[in-house]
Amino acid sequence: MRGMDLRGELDAFLAGCESELIGFRRDLHMHPELGFAEYRTTQRIADKLTAAGLLPSVLPRGTGLICDVGSGDGPTVALRADIDALPVPDEKDVPYSSTVPGVCHACGHDVHTTVLLGTSLFLARQAEAGLLPGRVRLIFQPAEELPGGALEVMAAGGLSGVDRIFGLHCDPRVDVGKVGLKIGPITSACDRVTVRVSGPGGHTARPHLTADLVFALAKILTELPAALSRRVDPRSSLSLVWGRVEAGSAANAIPDDGVAEGTVRCLDEEAWHAAPDMIKALLESVAAAYGIEAQMDYVRGVPPVVNEEVSVQMLIEAAEGVLGEGASVPTQQSLGGEDFGWYLESVPGAFARLGTRTPGEAHAGDIHQGTFDVDETCIGTGVRFLAATALTALWEGQRPGTGEQVVMLNLDN
Ligand SMILES: [Zn+2]
Ligand SMILES: [Zn+2]
Repeated sequence: MRGMDLRGELDAFLAGCESELIGFRRDLHMHPELGFAEYRTTQRIADKLTAAGLLPSVLPRGTGLICDVGSGDGPTVALRADIDALPVPDEKDVPYSSTVPGVCHACGHDVHTTVLLGTSLFLARQAEAGLLPGRVRLIFQPAEELPGGALEVMAAGGLSGVDRIFGLHCDPRVDVGKVGLKIGPITSACDRVTVRVSGPGGHTARPHLTADLVFALAKILTELPAALSRRVDPRSSLSLVWGRVEAGSAANAIPDDGVAEGTVRCLDEEAWHAAPDMIKALLESVAAAYGIEAQMDYVRGVPPVVNEEVSVQMLIEAAEGVLGEGASVPTQQSLGGEDFGWYLESVPGAFARLGTRTPGEAHAGDIHQGTFDVDETCIGTGVRFLAATALTALWEGQRPGTGEQVVMLNLDN
């Protein structure tokens, strides 16, 4: 069963359950849960999988789950969805707005979860009919945003026996019905840096008797990113951007300490390795010039997601097969971080962007904003795409080196 057959099967399957899946997504959207607190979400997924005759296994910390579909001697392909929400207030006026103050699915993980659930139900049917040439490992991963959930899945043996892994993420810059694909790095490294400064405080009338800490901190905030951009190859796109700064409590008092926090993002592995030492040296030189003490905490975040070529070709074949010709479009590496990168350090695989924008829509809200929403037809697209991807990878995996000719597109950009 390939090509048109699979397309027809998926159409028939979705005709029967697409509105139920949209309802499932809206329910998750109304009840978002933060990383490692996704108890209700996990229960909802487990209930649906169990009802389909599958045997989900909840991860040791109690949120997120893993579930195998099919068995036999064939290859094992993993499909991963992240299930956590963000500490961002929902600003949308829709019937399914978040009911949890300050928390919402602003990154579309409710969509990823629903797409993988729909895919799971379809694959369970295929397995029952004896049409699954191998095993599919469903990974409903907690806590992508913290990050840390991917490491939790791996520590629980989630990748053991897995030959290839795939995942996808909502992309409001791509039209619904299409998927954005790229060979090589598709997301970036993202680290966290905290700078603490201290020095003698005092009256703002006499800054010369103090370290004039707020002024010095402001210098650090502007000098570090500026100097960094002159120390590294601009093609590495190493960027330091501050997200929080705090110092002082009164207009006429110079404080004796302050703090700034930000993220360091980088497209290039070499620059990523050099970043902590370089930032520390720059920090020390600016701090010394203003006579303040400065300390830096540098926390390594996620590695870049680096898509394997053969896996991307499978994604292309799946997209062109069930979504139609031209459904896969080139996409660019983003400066966003994604903990899927950790999986790809262990097994080959690829990560795709799922279009969520209604064609012609002037300005779709970006992810991580309280206004972010999707064109819900992307759920059906996602199920078609992910199910076809799993089957394609199993078919190709069964015949190493003799797989059918894959559709090659020029994805250079
Ligand atoms: Zn996110
Ligand atoms: Zn996300």
